[in-house]
Amino acid sequence: MSISRREFLKLVGASTILGLGGLSVSTMLKNNLIDASQGLSEPSIMQDPRALTAKRWGMVVNMSKFKTEEDYKRCIEACHRIHNVPNIGNTKEEIKWIWKETYEHAFPGTEDPFLSPEIKHLPFLVLCNHCNNPPCVRVCPTKATFKRKSDGIVMMDMHRCIGCRFCMAACPYGARSFNYRDARPFIKEEESLPYDSTFVKGPGSELLIKRGHLTFPTRMKGVVEKCTFCYERLAVGLQPACVEASQGALIFGDLEDPNSEVRKILNERYSFRRKPELGTYPSVYYILG
Ligand code: SF4
Repeated sequence: MSISRREFLKLVGASTILGLGGLSVSTMLKNNLIDASQGLSEPSIMQDPRALTAKRWGMVVNMSKFKTEEDYKRCIEACHRIHNVPNIGNTKEEIKWIWKETYEHAFPGTEDPFLSPEIKHLPFLVLCNHCNNPPCVRVCPTKATFKRKSDGIVMMDMHRCIGCRFCMAACPYGARSFNYRDARPFIKEEESLPYDSTFVKGPGSELLIKRGHLTFPTRMKGVVEKCTFCYERLAVGLQPACVEASQGALIFGDLEDPNSEVRKILNERYSFRRKPELGTYPSVYYILG
């Protein structure tokens, strides 16, 4: 059963008035009371001929290639720099698109006293899983987050986000961050401005934007954000920034194409996903070697 946005807001409002503190997002999901993802339509625009396309994008994280701190850092920094992810400096307000997670947090319920210490203490690189059945999409009342029909990327439209944070409550992977404050002062200054100068020059030739990377917009206070599989780079023929920086540790490709590299790896090696029991069907897979 799906309901309209108006009905959805009424339902949440009514439950609050009735002293239920608002039905929990998980309760509503469980009872199929909400499915805000219904009725999505995507605008059709002319595609860049260089664009990389797939029926369903997916990623394989080869943990055997993460041996030093530098191996993690270059992936995280490539993503965060290019997407103007701020470094707020405290974990409560932290914004993260891709980060390190302990084994027990990344794969809860799989702890085993006899697990090799090497795996037990290995930090795993985690990000939004671009789930095939994404609970975050189902709860978003404004369709600010939606699954792209063309390639399965779970997108985020910050202009439509009203900051209700239902998506954060619904995501079982902690893959979403909320902007509690204006992030712009916390974005690193770019040393060089590598893009078209007309884009940044004001009327008196002064630089309008002095902070941050110019290929991706900064976000405002009150919106949720997360990894979007670098849709903006795919659109111009580039691999995701983390994949490009990973030196072969991250492999990206079409899960629906049996000849893609990701599918070949998944055919040949044992792989696992985060919290498979939840039925979200992550598009990010992990291999150990
Ligand atoms: Fe949504 Fe979380 Fe799945 Fe990403 S990992 S698609 S944010 S439920």
